[in-house]
Amino acid sequence: MTTEELIALSEKNIMGTYRRFPIVLTRGEGVRVWDRDGKEYLDFVAGIAVCSLGHSHPAVVEAIKRQAETLMHVSNLYHIEPQIHFADQLVKHSFADKVFFCNSGAEANEGAIKLARKYAFENMEPGRCELITMKDSFHGRTLATITATGQKKFQVGFEPLPEGFNYVPFNDLAALEGAVTERTCGVLLEPIQGEGGVRMPDRHYLRKVRELCDDRGILMILDEVQVGMGRTGHLFAYEHDSVTPDIMTLAKALGNGFPIGAVLATDRVASSFVPGSHASTFGGNPLAMAAGLTVMETLLEGDILENCRRSGRYFLESLENLKRKYPFVKEVRGRGLIIGMELTAEGTDIVRSCMEKGLLINCTSGNVLRFIPPLIITEAEVDRAVEILDRAMGER
Ligand SMILES: *Cc1c(COP(=O)(O)O)cnc(C)c1O
Repeated sequence: MTTEELIALSEKNIMGTYRRFPIVLTRGEGVRVWDRDGKEYLDFVAGIAVCSLGHSHPAVVEAIKRQAETLMHVSNLYHIEPQIHFADQLVKHSFADKVFFCNSGAEANEGAIKLARKYAFENMEPGRCELITMKDSFHGRTLATITATGQKKFQVGFEPLPEGFNYVPFNDLAALEGAVTERTCGVLLEPIQGEGGVRMPDRHYLRKVRELCDDRGILMILDEVQVGMGRTGHLFAYEHDSVTPDIMTLAKALGNGFPIGAVLATDRVASSFVPGSHASTFGGNPLAMAAGLTVMETLLEGDILENCRRSGRYFLESLENLKRKYPFVKEVRGRGLIIGMELTAEGTDIVRSCMEKGLLINCTSGNVLRFIPPLIITEAEVDRAVEILDRAMGER
């Protein structure tokens, strides 16, 4: 079959929820991927901030192979050895005392929303069941998580939406304070808004949100699905602001490509989940947990977080140089290896041109080029990406 025929078959049978680029990727190694015609790409999308250790990391491949040969799935009716060890690692290295495993970011946020409501139902005054979330946020595609997502475009046509969500602008403390009522049980937000265009929190913003939540006796829930597990140069993004949430969700990079989601919480809050409260058939299965455990060990034992900080700084500086060269660049911002370049116009033509030249990047929020490469990238690979980007921008 030719690539054109294969793509036609894809479009014939697969629901059109994505506008896919016209390439078929078949192999990956480290920071590089190849399409079925043998063309090589530098991958600065990394499966949307998923493949943080790079493609086909040998330790992760080995762990999955070994576990697949041993035991893949038994359900949570029984104790699962790699799940026990992975949860232990997550608890040891985070604010949390307890973990619930599921299979995606949206599912993790659903779990977090349910946990917050259940905790409020049992511990707060009657009627406290609403969450405040941020405009331009992104929390997933289930009904509750599109409702938590403060962007109309994800909600239109799917009404009726679940009740109990109110929105305020990100970084606007006064608006948040004003929005807390006797019905509010918590605040749900991303420490950096990823899909919303790599929007950074103002200095002390997260700390002030924490203080407000403490003052008003409500929960702080952080969605670290995109920025958790090392993306910002620390294991969790909340570490940059010296705050800890009551609940946190993780997913994307947890399994380096193996689908895993997780809800983490303090003992106080987690105690509202009891047998029967919440469940997932696949969540935390042996195969996923073997992958996740190895990802976490690999991330912690090497100098990957240090490399993320160093390469991230170098990348940010290189992009600042491009900003000086091209007046259509409005701002460059980011932390570690989640970096956004906001343009004064749409960015899709640049994304397409980069792809043709062998660099995968993506564009979010219409006009923000987003760079979320594997955390193992070298300065030489950053140079190569910036050189391609420079040529693509020069064509504009
Ligand atoms: C990607 C993302 C989600 C949704 O994750 P899925 O695995 O696609 O369901 C939720 N929150 C944030 C911050 C994300 O970036």
